[in-house]
Amino acid sequence: MTKADVHGGDMRLEASVRSFPELLLQVGESLHATLVVDDQGRIARINSTLTITAGWGDGEPPEGRPLEEVLLLLPWLVDALRTALTGTETVSEGGERDRWLRALVLPVFGNDGQCLGACARLSERAPVKPGSAHHVALEQELTRTQRQYEELLNTIDGIVWEADVNFRFSFVNKQSERLLGHPPRQWLQEPDFWKNHVHPEDREWAQAYCLKASRERRPYEFEYRMLAADGRVVWLRTIVTVLAEDGRSLKLRGIMVDITEQRLAREKLEQTASLLRATFDSITDGVLVVSRDQHITAFNKRFQQLWGYSEEALQGTPDPKQTLPAAIAQVKNPERFLARIQEMYAAPEREGMDIVELHNGLVLQRTTIPQRMGHTIIGRIWSYRDVTEERRAREKQQQTFSLLRATFDSIADGVIVVDSHQKITAFNKRFQQLWRIPETAPLENMDAIQAVLSCAPLVKDPERFVSRLREMFVLSNEEAVDSVELRDGRILERTTMPQRMGDTIIGRVWSYRDVTEERLAKAEQERLFVAEKNAREKLEESLAVLDTFLNNAPIGMGFLDRDMRFIQVNDALAALHGKTREEELGQTLREMAPRVAANVEPLLRQVLTTGEPLIGLDLSLEVPATPGQLRHWRVSYYPVRTMSGRSVGVGAVVVELTAERRAQQERERLLHEAQEAIQTRDDFLCVASHELKTPLTPLKLHLERLKQKCATGQPLPPQYAEKALAQVDRLSGLISDMLDASLIDAERLELEREPLPLQEIIHEALKDFRPACLQHPLEYAEECAEEFVVLGDRDRLAQVLLHLLENALKYSPMKGPIRVTLTRKGAEALVSVSDRGIGIPEDQQALLFERFFRARNAPVSGFGGLGLGLYICRYLIERHGGRIWAESQDGQGTTFRFTLPVEPAPLLHGRA
Ligand code: ADP
Repeated sequence: MTKADVHGGDMRLEASVRSFPELLLQVGESLHATLVVDDQGRIARINSTLTITAGWGDGEPPEGRPLEEVLLLLPWLVDALRTALTGTETVSEGGERDRWLRALVLPVFGNDGQCLGACARLSERAPVKPGSAHHVALEQELTRTQRQYEELLNTIDGIVWEADVNFRFSFVNKQSERLLGHPPRQWLQEPDFWKNHVHPEDREWAQAYCLKASRERRPYEFEYRMLAADGRVVWLRTIVTVLAEDGRSLKLRGIMVDITEQRLAREKLEQTASLLRATFDSITDGVLVVSRDQHITAFNKRFQQLWGYSEEALQGTPDPKQTLPAAIAQVKNPERFLARIQEMYAAPEREGMDIVELHNGLVLQRTTIPQRMGHTIIGRIWSYRDVTEERRAREKQQQTFSLLRATFDSIADGVIVVDSHQKITAFNKRFQQLWRIPETAPLENMDAIQAVLSCAPLVKDPERFVSRLREMFVLSNEEAVDSVELRDGRILERTTMPQRMGDTIIGRVWSYRDVTEERLAKAEQERLFVAEKNAREKLEESLAVLDTFLNNAPIGMGFLDRDMRFIQVNDALAALHGKTREEELGQTLREMAPRVAANVEPLLRQVLTTGEPLIGLDLSLEVPATPGQLRHWRVSYYPVRTMSGRSVGVGAVVVELTAERRAQQERERLLHEAQEAIQTRDDFLCVASHELKTPLTPLKLHLERLKQKCATGQPLPPQYAEKALAQVDRLSGLISDMLDASLIDAERLELEREPLPLQEIIHEALKDFRPACLQHPLEYAEECAEEFVVLGDRDRLAQVLLHLLENALKYSPMKGPIRVTLTRKGAEALVSVSDRGIGIPEDQQALLFERFFRARNAPVSGFGGLGLGLYICRYLIERHGGRIWAESQDGQGTTFRFTLPVEPAPLLHGRA
């Protein structure tokens, strides 16, 4: 059995008008049934005569009414029909005396085995009395009826048959040959005719289905294919009634109806319907179809989805009044939504479209058109399209556009857009302002050239301006930036670029920016930059100069911050601390030179605290650079402030005075010495004049006495001449000393040195001295046996000895003894001359051998002398490689000693 639910399965497509299963009607028709009822017992078809017989008036049509209501006068028929509806076929009779009716009542089954209804075929007959004339007439009537019946069987548009449960036919009508081409004989004689001629694809299930139904002894109906004699495939609907013949064996009776065309048409319809259905369900619009009598006749899945209706809610052609509240609850503006629906139903011809917004954010575009069948309007189609995204996109686009427009109008650039036909397509307010174009001027769609020409008079170089614009009107990829100078002094920076839509150039955008201020500012900035650069260079020069000065200055300079750290320091100052400039920078004075800091920091802090400078302080310190050496400085400390007056540290200037101080001391010493020298000179002049004058007086006296004696012719006593000569000798000695002293000073005193026997020199000196030393005992002791030879100047060594002897004599007023000794001391000969005279004060002994020195205990009057003798003696002894010194006690006498290097003995002999 193939699908038999073409009517039942798709009720939504059916019109709302009540209908009966087509199969039921078809079966009824093919059986020439007088009456057909559906499974609910409602009249589906009824013969008009029977209608009257049954007692139904002329008024309303009986179709659709319950059979009990229509067959009011035929209760026996009602019973038979109700029995048939339970699946049992009956034959029933009833009626009045003159009108007796007989009814064959058959149940009709659908392909799924469900009872679709029942058919009744009625015939009229009179009650029978056998053997009578009437009986004969009846017999004839029966024969006629039988013939009629046979005729009926053969003319019926279907194969009426009878067979056993294995489908072995015992009867087929003549239609069997017409429909399938196989003669009835073949049907009856060929044992497995049916089985062999069922289409192979249907054979198995059809046989099984039949067997099962037969065993269950229920009528059944199925559709399958059979093969005709000419090979055609013929679709048959077979309605089978199972009859129990003798309580055991079963008999099948039925009818086969050719439904090939119907089937093909149905398949085609099914295809079309499924296509339509699929289309209907697959479209993006939600569609609802409402019949003119306000029932939902169709809807698609999208409609359900959009409105959230369940399958059940829309099932069974409901009245929209039941379904609408659910929709209204979802709509933002229910009044308008409903008003629109009512408006549309009121005017069936109208078509319309509007927008419905739902609370869940959906925006639906509602379209409604009348549903027509032919020219008749049978309902209204409502379709809902979700345009939320579209709506949003459009809103967004509008927003973007308005934003762009606002931006366009608010930007500082004046913009104008020209299309490929040189028409102005867009411009902003700023453009009008920049070019002094009145707001009311009709720029939109204006010819760009015309606009350019109207702006040209404002420009300094209108010709270039116009030609440049014309050039650029040619559609190109070129992008350019240049400047336009206006007569009123403004400078506009012009940028141009192509306007593109995708890859296509559709015009050109020009934007003008007023850069006057910018340019002026830039020029000013450049000027400032140059000025600043110059100033910086100057500053750098100054700093370099300052740095050079600072670092090369002979004075120490530095700057310390408030924490006593060196921010600046020059080499001179750093060197005082024994550091380099780099070492000191950033360090504190205490870290660099703690001892200096101890002296200096309090002063620096004082300057910081008071803000008053300390200028020209004298400081004497030992510094790390020269430990153990006192050095002198003049220092000044200044507070350093910013322009705003904030104290930032202390500047120090340190000038070293050590050299000056030493020079000063030297000068003072020299002055002192000079003064002493002057004093010495003055003393010398005084002494010298006195000493020189002293011998002159007696000399003059002696010479005058000699002159007197000569004049009187008296004999000349020799003592006068001797005394005069002694004074001359004394003068000569003084002058010799003065001459020697000047030679020594001029380093021109010559010595004539030769090996000399020292004892001999001493002996000769003593011999020369003795006559002058008459009142002093003169002693000589040689404390050695050998002979000393010295390499010397005989006269000068004699001069030394005589001078020492004369001084011993001169400064021994008490006439004490004068003692001379000669001893050896190592490689030298040591000669001593001692007296018991006035001695020399201890503090003056160091000065004995200085030029012009005279001890204070040797007054001019008493002793005389120039203070040159010992000076000359020291020079001569030292020139001979010896030393001379004195040992004395004030008032006790003096011993002068000198040494001379002794020559080896052979030298003298060799020379001798
Ligand atoms: P002058 O010609 O004055 O003696 P000298 O050079 O010989 O010069 O002596 C310098 C000074 O030394 C003397 O003036 C004297 O005061 C002191 N003097 C030298 N010899 C003696 C001495 N033997 N006893 C004490 N004083 C002496």
